[in-house]
Amino acid sequence: MSRALSGSPSATFAGKKTARATAAELAEDHFCNMGPQTANPVLTFYESNNTRYEFTATEFIKTSRLPVNDPFPDGTPFIWFRSWNHERITNEAKALELVSQTKIPVPKLLDYGEYSDGRRYLVTEFISGVRLKEFLHRGCSMATGQKHTDSTPCETCLNQAYLNALQFIEKTVFPELAKLTSQERGIDGFVMHPQWLSPDTEPPWKGKESWKTLPLEKSSYVFQHGDLGAHNIMMNPETLQPIVLFDWEYAGYFPPGMERWPGSLDWKAYRERGDKLADAIAKFLPEEYIECYDKWDDKAELDKLIKSGELPHPNQLR
Ligand SMILES: [Zn+2]
Repeated sequence: MSRALSGSPSATFAGKKTARATAAELAEDHFCNMGPQTANPVLTFYESNNTRYEFTATEFIKTSRLPVNDPFPDGTPFIWFRSWNHERITNEAKALELVSQTKIPVPKLLDYGEYSDGRRYLVTEFISGVRLKEFLHRGCSMATGQKHTDSTPCETCLNQAYLNALQFIEKTVFPELAKLTSQERGIDGFVMHPQWLSPDTEPPWKGKESWKTLPLEKSSYVFQHGDLGAHNIMMNPETLQPIVLFDWEYAGYFPPGMERWPGSLDWKAYRERGDKLADAIAKFLPEEYIECYDKWDDKAELDKLIKSGELPHPNQLR
C-alpha cells in the first residue's frame, strides 16, 4: 500500500470543509478526487481484509480495500472479497449526514469520496474514548483511592457502562431514528443487505448483484443503524456514558424490526441474530429470497437449509 495521503495541512480544509456541507456538496466536490483531504499527517493505522483504518491527531479515515490475497495455511491461494465492500463506505457517509440531523451523537463527517481504482473512503473527526466492549478487559475507571476493585475487569464499571449504553439506545437512539422515515429501502437508491445475513457465503444469496428499494405508498421504512452492538459505541471511560454511536456501514431505511435488536448489548445475543434466519428472511426479505431461490441450481442444498431452519420454505412466501 503506497497511496500518498496528504501529509501536510490542506489549505482548503479549514475554510471549506465544514460539517454543514451537505452530502450532495461533498459528493460533487470530492467524488472524483484522488484521496481524502486531511488536516494532519496519519499517525497510525490498521487493516482488516476489508478496510484500512487511519488516524491523524484529529481525524479518522476509513478506506475500503481491493480484493486481498489471503492464502490458506498450506499456501493455497485465496482471494478475499466482500460484496459491496466499497459501496458500504459511501453508505456510511450518507448515513452520517442523515443522522447528524438528529439528537443521536455521531462523529462529524468531514469528507468522503472514491479513488479511480474503486476504493472509497470517508473522513470523520477522531473521537477519543473507549469502545463499550473494551470494558470487558479494563480495570476500574474510578480515580485512585475510589476504585471499586483492583481486579480486571471491574464488574461495577462494566455493568454501569453497559446499563448507560442500553439506556442511550432505548431513550435516544431508537426514538430519534424513528423520526427518520422513507418510502424506499436503503439510502438514495442503494440498499445494503442486513448485517445478520452473509450473502457472500450463504446459499441462495451468492452472486446476487443488488438489493431492491421496494417502494411503499407510505413512508413506513424507518432508519436503522444495522450493526448495533457494543463494538460500535464509543464511551467516556470516566463518566461511563456514551460519546457517539459509530460504524453506520449497514445503515438505511428498512422495515421496523429488521435491525433484529436483541434488547441487549451482550455479545452472544448479538451473534445469535445471525442464527436460524428463516423467520427473519420470510418477514423482511421475501421478494429477494424467492428471486434467489428460483435462480439457485442446487435445490437439494437449499432443502437442507430449509429443514435446519436457516431458510424459509418458498411456498409459504409465494
Ligand atoms: Zn470500577
